[in-house]
Amino acid sequence: MEYQIAADSLKDRVILVTGAGEGIGREAAISYAAHGATVILLGRTVAKLEAVYDEIEAQGYARPAIIPLDLQGATKQHYIDMVETIEEQFGRLDGVLHNAGLLGVLSPFDQLGEDTFDEVMQVNVKAQFLLSQAVMPLVKKAEDGRIVFTSSTVGHEGRAFWGAYSISKFATEGMMQVLADELSNSNVRVNAINPGGTRTGMRAKAFPAEDASQLKTPKDIMPLYLYLMGPESKDVNGQCIDAQPKG
Ligand code: NDP
Repeated sequence: MEYQIAADSLKDRVILVTGAGEGIGREAAISYAAHGATVILLGRTVAKLEAVYDEIEAQGYARPAIIPLDLQGATKQHYIDMVETIEEQFGRLDGVLHNAGLLGVLSPFDQLGEDTFDEVMQVNVKAQFLLSQAVMPLVKKAEDGRIVFTSSTVGHEGRAFWGAYSISKFATEGMMQVLADELSNSNVRVNAINPGGTRTGMRAKAFPAEDASQLKTPKDIMPLYLYLMGPESKDVNGQCIDAQPKG
């Protein structure tokens, strides 16, 4: 599908992107900034966030902010404090892209370690739950709020050996649907993106033998990321949309 996105579609919006230091999150943060948003870059590796910050500044886009946070260890209070800081600094929050994710270890179900299961569920599910709860009062105040989750093909089709990751993405889609239904009469739209195979570090870890040059890049899939974060998707709620045709 072709998405018609105005060059300034995100003008004056403040958007939080998790896992903004590399891969799809990095590209989404830069694309949102290029379309007028002030982006808040959340991630665990500060040097990567600083590199994205510098790139956005060098392009002359609105000055971003950095929030270093490891979703593995973050507690409810961390998210509450973070939202207080965002409100103090920006006075608003228009959108959240839940992008940070952990692949864990691909293995037969009976060999799936409890530690791996807990780590993946913490980063891919519980962190999104706590962050969504914390930002909700602020996003509800936005004129045209957006919460965008990141799922996967294995988030709606279970696949052998994808254990904790697949289970976590089913939970992500469930969370998105619950929230979308609850907020259906509000100004907030809640949806999810299935990026499809995309040339990033996570994809290389999952498919080490494939020819990555055949994959779409994060930049190629940005039209859907812009569409679901901007005014063009005002009438879309509770959907998980594929960013590229299934190959
Ligand atoms: P990458 O591994 O390239 O990037 C993941 C990002 O998440 C990194 O910036 C990483 O930070 C951050 N992150 C991971 N763990 C934590 C944590 N504990 N706390 C804070 N940040 C963390 O992945 P992709 O860009 O490929 O994936 C982005 C999203 O898209 C994920 O949700 C993934 O599941 C999903 N997806 C990707 C597909 C693909 O083909 N690439 C296909 C389907 C879904 P750091 O750099 O500091 O490690």
